[in-house]
Amino acid sequence: MGGFDDNISQSDESVRPGTLDDFIGQEELRKNLAVYIRAARERGRALDHTLFYGNPGLGKTTLAQIMASELNVNLVCTSGPVLERSGDLAAILTNLGRNDLIFVDEIHRMPIAVEEILYPAMEDFKLDLVLGQGPGARTVKIELEPFTLVGATTRMGLISSPLRDRFGILAHLEFYSPEDLSRIVLRTAKILGVVINNEGAAEIGRRSRGTPRIANRLLRRVRDFALVHGDGNITAAVASKALEQMDVDELGLDQMDRKILNVIIRHYDGGPVGVRTLAAACSEEIRTIEEIYEPFLIQSGFLKRTPRGRMATSKAFKHLKLLG
Ligand code: ADP
Repeated sequence: MGGFDDNISQSDESVRPGTLDDFIGQEELRKNLAVYIRAARERGRALDHTLFYGNPGLGKTTLAQIMASELNVNLVCTSGPVLERSGDLAAILTNLGRNDLIFVDEIHRMPIAVEEILYPAMEDFKLDLVLGQGPGARTVKIELEPFTLVGATTRMGLISSPLRDRFGILAHLEFYSPEDLSRIVLRTAKILGVVINNEGAAEIGRRSRGTPRIANRLLRRVRDFALVHGDGNITAAVASKALEQMDVDELGLDQMDRKILNVIIRHYDGGPVGVRTLAAACSEEIRTIEEIYEPFLIQSGFLKRTPRGRMATSKAFKHLKLLG
């Protein structure tokens, strides 16, 4: 969910799939999760701790909610940066019921002191809390109910190995294909009561940076254009015109994507350029560049990461119509 690019609105909740059957794409992951959930239910045990990693907006929070609902257990949601002290996490863990699920978004941003109390909690459902300081400090052990930790991260590389090793299920969420995104757009349109044909949905799906959250957001904006400039119906032509107005180009790159490529090509002859310099030149946070923009630009072949920095590819030169 990132916390720094998108606001989760009420309407986001209304279109969130509630069951695995409603969840579109990520076929393999979905099939595997169905098996793990069923097995946990049949054994009456807590599901193994699960770590989801992948770009913001790909469905990590949604899957955690679906898991809790299909397991018929309570869900408590929190995030790494919110858990400032070990006591914050201890308070949540001690309140969990049997087999409940705790979702920790951006788990890579959890302070190390908090992470350390997670190890015995994940492994043996025990908390070792240190009370007080100095010579008077003492340790208390607290037994916990069995629970499932579902962690989400955009940065697998920032998860320490002791933490990573305590997850039984590690699952990577991939960018979605244009076809899956088009199905997601059709589903969301139905829920929102928007009239859209298959071609209109395909146009939005193709230009959504492989990301369901972006597909849903673009659908809402295209709907606004369709209402104001037309009869409200979304066709390929209507979608294309609206997306152009919003500065989302033919290949789905937005202003910032193009700015990043432009800076590398124009100011640095195509690179290599360090991410710090790049972020400064684009007036963007390093983290946002690394976690939101780069993965898609790399995946779609516009950008290369090299030991000496980022480089624009010939595809990027061509796309920006600047011969390099
Ligand atoms: P993350 O936690 O990875 O940032 P979310 O789970 O919050 O992403 O998903 C963002 C939005 O995208 C959700 O509101 C949901 O409606 C939609 N979404 C995500 N994955 C899917 C999917 N596979 N099928 C349909 N909608 C999806």
